[in-house]
Amino acid sequence: MAKRIWNFNAGPATLPLSVLEKIKADIPSYNNSGMAVMELSHRAKDYADIHAQAKALLTELFNIPDGYNILFLQGGASTQFFMIPMNLLAQGKSADYVNTGTWSKKAIKEAKLFGDVNIAGSSEDKNFTYIPDVSGLSLNSASEYVHITSNNTIAGTQFKKFPETGSVPLIADMSSDIMSKKLDVSKFSMIYAGAQKNMGPAGVTLVIMKDDLLAKCKQDLPSMLKYDTHVQKDSLFNTGPTFSIYVVKLVLEWIKECGGVEAIEKENNKKADLLYGVIDDNPDFFKCPIEVNSRSFMNAVFRLPTEDLEKQFIAEAAEAGFGGTKGHRSVGGIRISMYNAMPYKGIKALTDFMLKFAKNNG
Ligand SMILES: *Cc1c(COP(=O)(O)O)cnc(C)c1O
Repeated sequence: MAKRIWNFNAGPATLPLSVLEKIKADIPSYNNSGMAVMELSHRAKDYADIHAQAKALLTELFNIPDGYNILFLQGGASTQFFMIPMNLLAQGKSADYVNTGTWSKKAIKEAKLFGDVNIAGSSEDKNFTYIPDVSGLSLNSASEYVHITSNNTIAGTQFKKFPETGSVPLIADMSSDIMSKKLDVSKFSMIYAGAQKNMGPAGVTLVIMKDDLLAKCKQDLPSMLKYDTHVQKDSLFNTGPTFSIYVVKLVLEWIKECGGVEAIEKENNKKADLLYGVIDDNPDFFKCPIEVNSRSFMNAVFRLPTEDLEKQFIAEAAEAGFGGTKGHRSVGGIRISMYNAMPYKGIKALTDFMLKFAKNNG
């Protein structure tokens, strides 16, 4: 068998091995069509089935209620940063944003091109090491929407509770924690996520949008940048990222085989408890700068006593078969991304390595 590492990269990220093997088996002839999926017409019956199954699995596994549209778009979550205000904001109108780090800031920058931004809460005062108390946000009831980043991939924080926004639509960038735990989708008017963290390969962005938010979207926009176009055409207005959507479908089938999102959530909690436990039990060597109640169960960030030790840790980890342990360049230190597809076994192996490293270098 080919060599595999424990891959802790933040995105693109590890995928279930069984999914990779299924992809391999489906090449060169998907469903006896004589073509690989990436060779199928996006209008072909075989592809239409993949597209429909991906949507049906999302609806089932993520419990998406009636009245929501599921879209597969391109341009990454970064395109949503401007597409949302382009469709929903205007000069003289305002939107609320909670600033919890790099990705929120990027979303805020784009929104300001289209209208006013009210920073309803921010954790910038403490270098984004916590999630602001959601009941203490300064929400503006006249806002077009409230935008949050549910999991902060770089800072290592995660919302554990969501703001109550009343009649103001709540929009969340869930790029790095979508499908990682049970969620009441009905609290949100829109959820979006690039697939490459927790759902599949790069190239497709999932958008889940409620009908009444869609109804508020502007019409005088370029076709590709209008949500309505993609809703009308079931995300097949133009050639979509068919291969990426197919892999997302396989990942969803894998989640179902695992017992659904609830089972995945249990596993994710076990993984995070183990890793943060080892960090907290060895405070002379490992230090997580994130407030305990704000810690991300997807991306754990921590420091070692010196930067030299961090460099050594990353190098020795790589040699031992643990990849992608280096923290984001803007934060430094170590970052361990433990998305759905990272098994408990991988975190167990890593924490064993961490303890040995601490013993040898402490
Ligand atoms: C990775 C990431 C993005 C950017 O996604 P792209 O698909 O590269 O545009 C946005 N938000 C969050 C929370 C992310 O983790």
